[in-house]
Amino acid sequence: MKLVLIGCPGAGKGTQAKVLSRHFGIAHISTGDLLREQVKSGTPLGLKLKSIMESGGLVSDDIVSELLAERIKADDCKKGYILDGYPRNVSQAEGLTAIVGELDRVIDIEVPDELIIERMSGRRSCGGCGAMYHTKYNPPKSEGVCDSCGGKLITRSDDKAETVKHRLEVYHSQTAPVIDFYNKKGIVSEIDGSRSIDDISKELIELLEK
Ligand code: AMP
Repeated sequence: MKLVLIGCPGAGKGTQAKVLSRHFGIAHISTGDLLREQVKSGTPLGLKLKSIMESGGLVSDDIVSELLAERIKADDCKKGYILDGYPRNVSQAEGLTAIVGELDRVIDIEVPDELIIERMSGRRSCGGCGAMYHTKYNPPKSEGVCDSCGGKLITRSDDKAETVKHRLEVYHSQTAPVIDFYNKKGIVSEIDGSRSIDDISKELIELLEK
C-alpha cells in the first residue's frame, strides 16, 4: 500500500500516519523527521536546513527527494508506506511518480486556517523521543514531561505563531496544487480534519479497508 497524506501544517498528518502505520503494519515516512535528523547531526548541511525550516520555507527538492529515495529502500517499506509531508509541491509529486510509480491513495486532510493556528500554538514535542502532544487536545499526564520517555516537552521553533502563518501561505501557494495533480488521477479522498483524532482515524481505516 502506497499512501500520501496531504494537509496544511497542523492538519494531523503525523498523528494519523502513526495510527495507520500501526494498523496496517506499513512504514511511516515523514520528510520533516528525516530533515530534523539531519539538523540534529550538526553537519554543515544540517545547519543550512535548520535556518530554512525555522523560517517556515521549503527545503530544496533535490535534498528532500534524495533523503526520501534512500529511506524508501529500507526493508520496512517493502509492504508499503505512508508519506507524511511529501510531496510538498507539484515538482516533488512528479518526482515521486518517477521514483515509485503510481500511488494507491492520496488522503487530503482539510482543516480551516483559524483552527490550525489554535492547534499549532498548543503543540509540544518531546526533545528526547519526538512524541507529540497538545496542551488542550492531547496533554501529557504531567505538564511539560513526555509520557513515553520522561523527556522535556518543547515548542518546535517552526510552530511559533509568525512562522505558522508563513507555513500556511507556503501550503496554499505550493502544496495545495498537489491535490489537483492527484485529483486528475482520481485517487484523492478528502477528509474533514477538524474532528477528533479518533473519529478521523476510524474514517481513514474504514476508507482504506474498503
Ligand atoms: P513537517 O514536519 O512536515 O511540518 O516539516 C517541517 C519543515 O521541514 C517544513 O516546514 C519544511 O521546511 C521542511 N520540509 C518537510 N518536508 C519537506 C518537503 N517535502 N519539501 C521541502 N521541505 C520540506
